[in-house]
Amino acid sequence: MNKPGLSRRDFVNGCALSLAAGSTISPLDAIAQNMLDPAALPSDYYPPVKQGMRGSHDGSFEVAHDMRDGKRWSAVDAGDPTYDLVVVGGGLSGLSAAYFYRKQHGPDARILILDNHDDFGGHAKRNEFWHDGEMYLVNGGTLNVEAPQQYNSAAAGLLWELGIDRARYFEKNRKMFSRYREMGLKGSMFFDRETFGNEQLVVGYGSDPFDEFIAKTPLSEEVKRDAVRLYSDKKDYFPGLSSDEIRDKLAHISYRDYVTDVVGCHPDVVRLFDSSQLGIFVTAMDAIPAIYCREMGYPGFDGLNLDEVPVDQLAHEPGGQHGRENTERAESGDPDMYFPDGNATIARLLVRSFLPDAVPGSSVEDVVSAKLDYSLLDRNDNKIRIRLNSTVVNVAHVSDEQVETNYVLGDRAYSVKSKAVVMACWNNVIPHICHEFSDRQREALLYGQKSPLVYTGVLFSNWKSFADAGISSVSAPGGYHPSIGLPPSLELGEYQTSRDPDKPIVVRMSCYFNEPGLSRREQHRVGRSRMLATPFSTFEHHIRDQLSRILGPTGFDDERDILGITVNRWPHGYTYSYNPLFDPDEWAFTTTSERPAIIGRQRLGRIAIANADAAASPHTDAAIGEAFRAVNELMSSS
Ligand SMILES: Cc1cc2nc3c(=O)[nH]c(=O)nc-3n(C[C@H](O)[C@H](O)[C@H](O)COP(=O)(O)OP(=O)(O)OC[C@H]3O[C@@H](n4cnc5c(N)ncnc54)[C@H](O)[C@@H]3O)c2cc1C
Repeated sequence: MNKPGLSRRDFVNGCALSLAAGSTISPLDAIAQNMLDPAALPSDYYPPVKQGMRGSHDGSFEVAHDMRDGKRWSAVDAGDPTYDLVVVGGGLSGLSAAYFYRKQHGPDARILILDNHDDFGGHAKRNEFWHDGEMYLVNGGTLNVEAPQQYNSAAAGLLWELGIDRARYFEKNRKMFSRYREMGLKGSMFFDRETFGNEQLVVGYGSDPFDEFIAKTPLSEEVKRDAVRLYSDKKDYFPGLSSDEIRDKLAHISYRDYVTDVVGCHPDVVRLFDSSQLGIFVTAMDAIPAIYCREMGYPGFDGLNLDEVPVDQLAHEPGGQHGRENTERAESGDPDMYFPDGNATIARLLVRSFLPDAVPGSSVEDVVSAKLDYSLLDRNDNKIRIRLNSTVVNVAHVSDEQVETNYVLGDRAYSVKSKAVVMACWNNVIPHICHEFSDRQREALLYGQKSPLVYTGVLFSNWKSFADAGISSVSAPGGYHPSIGLPPSLELGEYQTSRDPDKPIVVRMSCYFNEPGLSRREQHRVGRSRMLATPFSTFEHHIRDQLSRILGPTGFDDERDILGITVNRWPHGYTYSYNPLFDPDEWAFTTTSERPAIIGRQRLGRIAIANADAAASPHTDAAIGEAFRAVNELMSSS
């Protein structure tokens, strides 16, 4: 039906189509006759360069919200042959599911991947800025391969098969952060007048001795004294309690309450840690158990009579806190790996493995700079097709051997049939798409709330203002963007992050939406609504305002120095992981099969469930590992 080269843009532009000498038909007739594939993309389609509001961009979520609110569509046959596998969700989990399925079933397996966004990769998206013929990259979401040594074997194997060789990577990229240090740049903390009364940038956060750093801040003498005490005291705040009893106490008190009520510090001391934990938990400090902070190396625990958790216990298991909290454990292997576009590199490598013509090149190094041809993603003759802008609204068995999947693309619904489906979309979407689950499974799938966070890339014409301030990153507790910084200094093939402060660079900024005082799940839910109601203009105002206040004294001029802004909003961001302040201890600290993620991910006939949510772990290796499990479950059921 699809003629290569005929595109949706042709349709939109209303061009007539030449079929054979002397005969033309209108695009509408072509669609009616199944000759024009509505999913085909024009050859100049290239979403990574789009700026403004990205992430869950306008047009990507409205159909899903209508579906949640009860809207139903009647679908027409898409005209595709029956697939072996349909994958719902084109994130790292969905792409990995296609990879594993093809590996198991052979290169002739016919697979369709459907995703509601205009680009593949799910959270693992890239933002591309161009200036004077040069490309500048930043991750739009999924940032890094965190603690690669701890990757589950399915994920570690997949990265290796895709050509990601850690030894080769680190040969070039060991200095990704130390390069800034060698230039004399340090971390810093910005105290804004709205939160702290006085406005001041204090350099040396994280590098200078804490008491020297804190002495330079505009904090009151009482706060300074308490902060130093928190770092230096080796007091046993729970005398007479056993290690297990102390662990239990720390699991059921927030770090905020531990610092203020147990250690007895001024509440402003807690603010100092706001920006560092938000990137991990997204909630306010009142929803983070003290035990998680202890495992991550936060201060205040040195005098406690606590035994260490055995190294590697639960290291790969879902259900814990954010993941690799135990700093010592996480740092025991290779450091985290960063690519210039984050884990979008992995998504691109996966797509290259199915559709080499669409992603030219042959190595990890060249995939970073490859110009991807999106018009080749969904061609008739592909064994694996990736169909973007397509929101799945219904998945149902039509027999024991066949499943029908309906999706909305543009203003029409289409249906395709397959022998099996992998749901690699979010857990709390699944019950709205598929109505065959038991009440128990449905409830389990709906349990978690994904966290709302925003990653922004700002293309600077130069970064002299950072260099002149002597900083590479800024923690801004209380600020709209609590975290601001230069990207890791990387080199992959022809791509190199700017090493010259006179040259452009993409500055990373992140912000988080939460609501102190509520449970973790409620903080995420309320924060998400606020995020979705926040227009680009508000983000832009805060970006310009914050950068001007922090870097203005060293010469930054937002009108002159900002060349581009991309705000990636992720209302459904990190996977929900369990938290003993609000969830049963067993969910947080054991591998019990009573965890909602485990109940929720059970295969249903020819439908298996992947996605990081199925592991209750917000990590790339969880996304890949769950894809591996889901594909294996289908194999064992056939
Ligand atoms: C801002 C951010 C930063 C992160 N940083 C890191 C990091 O540094 N390291 C790390 O390991 N992890 C990180 N993560 C976690 C990240 O979620 C995982 O690493 C991984 O990318 C998740 O992949 P996934 O395929 O499971 O889910 P997703 O990437 O969410 O992909 C699921 C896809 O399914 C689509 N979908 C949902 N419903 C439908 C439907 N009805 N029809 C069609 N498609 C649908 C979604 O829109 C999405 O595109 C980060 C996450 C976020 C949001």
